[in-house]
Amino acid sequence: MENALILLAGGIGKRFGGEIPKQFIKIGNTNIINYFLSNLDPLIFDIILITSKKNYQEKYLKTLKKEFKQHNIHFTESGDTRQLSSKKSLNYIKKYNPKNVLIHDSARPLASNKLINKIIKNLNVNICSIPYVLSNDLIKIKKNTLNNSITKLIQTPQGFKFEKIYKAHKETNEVNSKDDSSILEKFNYSLNMIKGEKTNIKITDKEDANFFINFKKKIYKSGIGYDIHKINFFSKNKLILCGVKILHPPLIGHSDADVGMHAICDSILGALSMRDIGYYFKNNDKRWKNINSKFFLLFCKMQLIEKNFKIINLDINFICETPNINKILIKMKKNISKILLIPVSIISIKATTNEKIGFIGRGEGIAAECITQIVNE
Ligand code: ZN
Repeated sequence: MENALILLAGGIGKRFGGEIPKQFIKIGNTNIINYFLSNLDPLIFDIILITSKKNYQEKYLKTLKKEFKQHNIHFTESGDTRQLSSKKSLNYIKKYNPKNVLIHDSARPLASNKLINKIIKNLNVNICSIPYVLSNDLIKIKKNTLNNSITKLIQTPQGFKFEKIYKAHKETNEVNSKDDSSILEKFNYSLNMIKGEKTNIKITDKEDANFFINFKKKIYKSGIGYDIHKINFFSKNKLILCGVKILHPPLIGHSDADVGMHAICDSILGALSMRDIGYYFKNNDKRWKNINSKFFLLFCKMQLIEKNFKIINLDINFICETPNINKILIKMKKNISKILLIPVSIISIKATTNEKIGFIGRGEGIAAECITQIVNE
């Protein structure tokens, strides 16, 4: 095995208030462990070991294994101190015979793949690779002002040749080292320091949490949806478009045949990299017979919430000869806004005819297309 990552999550820091350690608290719509794992390049590590207190948040940690299938995640219990947690983790990982191991505090979720790769590359020629940043601020200890060009602020992940750090942990008499590099130093190794990242902060209090929220990488995604239904000229029912009933022959469909809502649904599901609406609601399932399409849209809304995304723009286009879409435009927007809980100002509804060409041009059906843009929260 080439590279292993130990993610120390056994801390019980509660400076955020409340009883839950900060690594498990939702900050914005994620927590720091989820955020780190979702941004970590899955090609870097052969194994990721998360070290946490026994039984603590065990259920949640198990969900990580499923959620981040791209990573080979394992779990082990933490020790009584940070150092002992590291030691236990190294013991666990030994059977995989890793060449390099990176030990990382889960409270630093913003460490970039670039930094991690740099640390690993450095281990080709050094036994350890320790990131640091210099302080821009002067550091005073009592009456002494230190020269901040030589005062290094130490970060994680810290990279090591596995055998060296494993041996040092086994042989040291100490139990309470603040980090792993200082254990190696006790055995007279000189540390290889590399430039870290100022944004790789350790999240300790609410001010750090706010920094994290603002810094988080925004992910923008778009999806397209298209739908078409045939008009039933023999029915006395009304036409329904985006939930608005109109005095016009209705469309034929298994549900209420709301072509507008169906296009919106598919565009949202597309933006979430999911399947089309027909996959989740089969058109031969009796449960969905004549059902209000609002139900499908609510399903899409739930998917957005579950995956921590929100809509930032929704652009719908109707293609039909009749009815006159402009007359019901505001009502349609209000309906969509109410169901999806988004402002009317980010919804656009447009319409065009088919210039009398083809079956839409002959007024036999109505088509709708939609593009939705979403961003992570
Ligand atoms: Zn449809």
